[in-house]
Amino acid sequence: MIERQNFGSFAGQPVHLFTLKNKNSVEVSICNYGGIVTSIKTPDKKGNFDDIVLGFDTLEEYIEDNPYFGCIAGRFANRIAEGKFSLAGKTYQLAQNDGEHHLHGGERGFDKVLWKARETSDNSLNLTYHSKDGEEIYPGGLEVEVIYTLTDNDELRIDYAATTDAPTIVNLTNHSYFNLSGATDILAHEVLLKADRFTPIDEGFIPTGELKEVDGTPFDFREFMPIGARINNDHEQLKFADGYDHNWVLNGQAGELRHVASVRELETGRGLELFTTQPGVQFYSGNFLTHIKGKDGRIYEKRSGFCLETQHFPDSPNQPNFPSVTLKPGEKYEQTTVFKFTILS
Ligand code: BGC
Repeated sequence: MIERQNFGSFAGQPVHLFTLKNKNSVEVSICNYGGIVTSIKTPDKKGNFDDIVLGFDTLEEYIEDNPYFGCIAGRFANRIAEGKFSLAGKTYQLAQNDGEHHLHGGERGFDKVLWKARETSDNSLNLTYHSKDGEEIYPGGLEVEVIYTLTDNDELRIDYAATTDAPTIVNLTNHSYFNLSGATDILAHEVLLKADRFTPIDEGFIPTGELKEVDGTPFDFREFMPIGARINNDHEQLKFADGYDHNWVLNGQAGELRHVASVRELETGRGLELFTTQPGVQFYSGNFLTHIKGKDGRIYEKRSGFCLETQHFPDSPNQPNFPSVTLKPGEKYEQTTVFKFTILS
């Protein structure tokens, strides 16, 4: 079932909030400004429902100052060094909106635009956006489609697709901040990441290009480990990011939908299972959150939420040994990510 409500307006256009509800009463709300997932309500082990993503009560707050809560990040999610890349013999200078680097598509990325929304079934919301040639300096007109589906198996499935009329670069993700306890910080949440390697960064969060083994480092999440267990270790990579804010190189075959991560919160008994076709995931421990007034009077402090942003590796356009993010006319960009909400047994 999908319920549509008014959620204010943006640039003179009405914005709607769509609430998808499944047979188990799990609810996911999405607004067509930024394609933002504004809330996900799931039961704990006692059957009490709570909202497990960070966000705001009103559209205005999302528009004013949003640390990318729940949005679709694009045209290129995460960073591009100095905002520069070359393609088909031309060099492009994108916005440097994160220090000297480019972040999440620039000044007005896909998180800050109005998407066209259509309910395509009783559990799917289809969002489309046409990004013009030259928008945020990116080459090529890009047709983007994101389909959010809530299944009766308590999965939020996100299917991304894009086509272009000239060579360009694409990297799309969803930027939800989760907190499975619905309260406090996320340090006791236990995380498992099926990744033998990660991409170390420099002080500006740009990958050095190395694919480093996680073995013997605080980046080894191949077995369940509380987020807080090693986050303050004396490790250069943790110091650079003030915690976790790195891309893990996911095991298995990119392009195949495979299980890549699990999170569990033992107090409430909530679990999260992550599946994706993407080659990487940015595991971000919410290090930059500082005293944000969120939904229902909640205050979000540092590490109130964590993100698992399935993606191509940051700065891929400048890193020849990373999987390619180039999209050419006639090709189709397609990615799928599934978040499955579980109750631990
Ligand atoms: C980045 C962080 C950034 C956050 C919010 C993440 O994808 O890796 O460095 O602070 O998004 O902008």
